[in-house]
Amino acid sequence: MINTINPITAADFKEEMTYEQQGHNDAAPALIGQYAHLGISEPVVRFGEDILASLQGRFRQIDETAEYNQLKVTLAMQKCRVSEACLLGTTGYGYNDLGRDTLEQVYAALFHTEDALVRPQITCGTHALALALMSNLRPGDELLSPVGKPYDTLEEVIGIRPSRGSLREYGISYSQVDLLPDGSFDYEGIRNAIKEKTRLVTIQRSKGYQTRPTLSVARIGELIRFIKNIRPDILCMVDNCYGEFVETIEPTDVGADMVVGSLIKNPGGGLAPIGGYIAGKKECVENAACRLTSPGLGKEVGASLGVLSSFYQGLFLAPTVTASALKGAIFAANIYEKIGFSVVPDGRESRHDIIQAVTFGSPEGVIAFCQGIQAAASVDSFVTPEPWDMPGYDSQVIMAAGAFVSGSSIELSADGPIKPPYAVYFQGGLTFPHAKLGILKTLQSLLDCGLVTADFHKA
Ligand SMILES: *Cc1c(COP(=O)(O)O)cnc(C)c1O
Repeated sequence: MINTINPITAADFKEEMTYEQQGHNDAAPALIGQYAHLGISEPVVRFGEDILASLQGRFRQIDETAEYNQLKVTLAMQKCRVSEACLLGTTGYGYNDLGRDTLEQVYAALFHTEDALVRPQITCGTHALALALMSNLRPGDELLSPVGKPYDTLEEVIGIRPSRGSLREYGISYSQVDLLPDGSFDYEGIRNAIKEKTRLVTIQRSKGYQTRPTLSVARIGELIRFIKNIRPDILCMVDNCYGEFVETIEPTDVGADMVVGSLIKNPGGGLAPIGGYIAGKKECVENAACRLTSPGLGKEVGASLGVLSSFYQGLFLAPTVTASALKGAIFAANIYEKIGFSVVPDGRESRHDIIQAVTFGSPEGVIAFCQGIQAAASVDSFVTPEPWDMPGYDSQVIMAAGAFVSGSSIELSADGPIKPPYAVYFQGGLTFPHAKLGILKTLQSLLDCGLVTADFHKA
C-alpha cells in the first residue's frame, strides 16, 4: 500500500548528510565526556577514532555478510514453519516437543545437512565435541587431526593427556599431523597418517589457544576433498566453534559430515543460556542422540524446558551479533598492531572466526588486558580477574568476562593462558559499541600500567 500520510521529505535523507552536517563535530565532546565517566582518557578515544576511520570499508563487507546470513536464518525458519507454539517448552520426557524438533530442522536447513541435534542437555562446546566423537567412533578406530593440536579441553577427551573416560580408555587411538611452518596442510604427512583404522578426521576451524591462522571454509573444503579422495568413508567432523556466520558458507557446504559447536558462542546470539549442536549426516546425528540420551531413545526424549525461545531468538540475532564481534576483533587487531604488538590475524587479513590473539610477551600484559575487558563489562565490572588453575587446561588461565550468560564468550570476553608467548585471546561483543568500549578500556589499562607509552607505542 502506498503511504500517502507521510510523504517522503528532505528530513528522511538526513542520514546521507555527514556527521558534521548533522550538528556533530569531530571532537564529539559528549562522547568524550561519556568515555571519561568510564575511565577512558581523551587521547585513547581519539586514537581509537583514528583507527576506526580506516576500517569503514571492511565494516561494510561485514555488514553485507550479516545481511546475507540474516536472510539465510530467516529463510530456514520460514521453511521449517516456525510457529508461536515452537517457542514453548516441554517437561518430563519431552516426547513430541514441537519446538525442539522444529529447531533441529532449522539448524539442518541452515547448515544444509540431513539432520541436527540442538539441545540444552549438551552442556558446552567440549561436551558437544566429545559427544560427536564418542558416538561416532568405536573401539579399534583411530581419530586423526590433520590440523595440529586440538583445543586444550579436547586433549582430555581424546586422552592426549590421560583422563578418566577418554577415548583412549575405550581403545580409540589418536594421531595428529601438524600444519607446516607456513600454516599450510602437510598433505604428504596426512596421506601417510591415514590408515585402515582411521575412522574420523577432526578439523578445528578456529585457532583456539594457538597462534596458527584460522581456517577458512574454502580451505577446510580443500582438506576434506583431499581426505575423501583417499578414503571416501572417513567421516570429516569440523569443530565449528567461533566460526558460525563469519562467512556466508559453513563447512557442511564444502563436504563436512558434521559440524559441532556451542550455543554460548556465535549461534546462540548471546541469548541462549546453555546448549550445543551437532548438524550433519543423519547417521552421525542419530549416533550422537543415542549417546546423549540412550540407545533406543535417541532424539525422542529430552525436554526443552523453557529455553527454546532464547534458542530461536538467539539464532535470529546471531548473524548481527557475530558481525559486532568481528568488528571488535578487527578494531582490536588494528589498535594493537599500530602500537607494535604482534596480532593474529593481522589488521588487514580476512577473517574466519571472531577470535583475536594479541601477543604481549609478558604475564603483566595479559593480565592488564583482561582486567581492562572486565572493567568494561555491564555485569561484574567491579571485580578484578586473576590467573587460576582451570579444569581442562594445563597452565594457569586468566579469564575476563562480565557476562549475562556465565562464561559466554560471544559476549565481550578475553582469556589468556599464563605461559609463553603470553598471548591474550579476545572475542565477542554483543554490540560493536560495547566491543569498542572494551578495547579502549584495555588500552587505557595497558597505558596506566606503563606497558604502552603516552604516544601509543609498545613500552
Ligand atoms: C570454545 C571452544 C571449544 C570448547 O567449548 P566450551 O564451550 O568452552 O567447552 C572447543 N573448540 C574450540 C575451537 C573452541 O573455541
